Amino acid sequence: MSTKSERYAYRDLKICTKDCLCLFVCPTGATDNETGQIDFDKCIGCGVCAASCPSKAISMLPRVYPKQKEKDKQVIKELFRLADSKIEQIKTLEYLMNKSSNEDEKRLYKALIHSNKVMIEDMMREAGYMLPQSSNTNKLLISIRGKDEEVDKIIDKLLDKLEVND
Ligand code: SF4
Ligand code: SF4
Repeated sequence: MSTKSERYAYRDLKICTKDCLCLFVCPTGATDNETGQIDFDKCIGCGVCAASCPSKAISMLPRVYPKQKEKDKQVIKELFRLADSKIEQIKTLEYLMNKSSNEDEKRLYKALIHSNKVMIEDMMREAGYMLPQSSNTNKLLISIRGKDEEVDKIIDKLLDKLEVND
């Protein structure tokens, strides 16, 4: 990983309207990348692209994340207990959704499933499992390797880029 700058530019492809302004202003050519993403290694973190982007599709991110805050073991335990109950709720909602023939009901179940998933995500983040720099996340990524070749490639890339600092 390059240590040229403390931060680097990240383009959100869902927001990018592809007007190419960032290609013209970047002094290193980091924005002109075949993958559509900004070249992490070429970027010197000047921030000119982010300031120029009319869609606010570019964020400046730190190369090294700050350490995560110490989590209280009891809080983590309770978050996992709550997440387990949400998983049970999702299973029930999926069952009801599959049984229902009413489209409005199906939409309601779908929305409830989605909201439960978002809550689980928040709980896991709060418990320190979704911070890229945490050893929790690192161990989780390693534990899910070996089931799918394509997924493994993505995990390896993440493991290569994420420095564990706790
Ligand atoms: S300037 Fe913004 S919207 Fe335009 S191509 Fe670059 S990232 Fe996309
Ligand atoms: S931060 Fe600067 S070097 Fe990095 S991609 Fe944007 S314009 Fe290019």
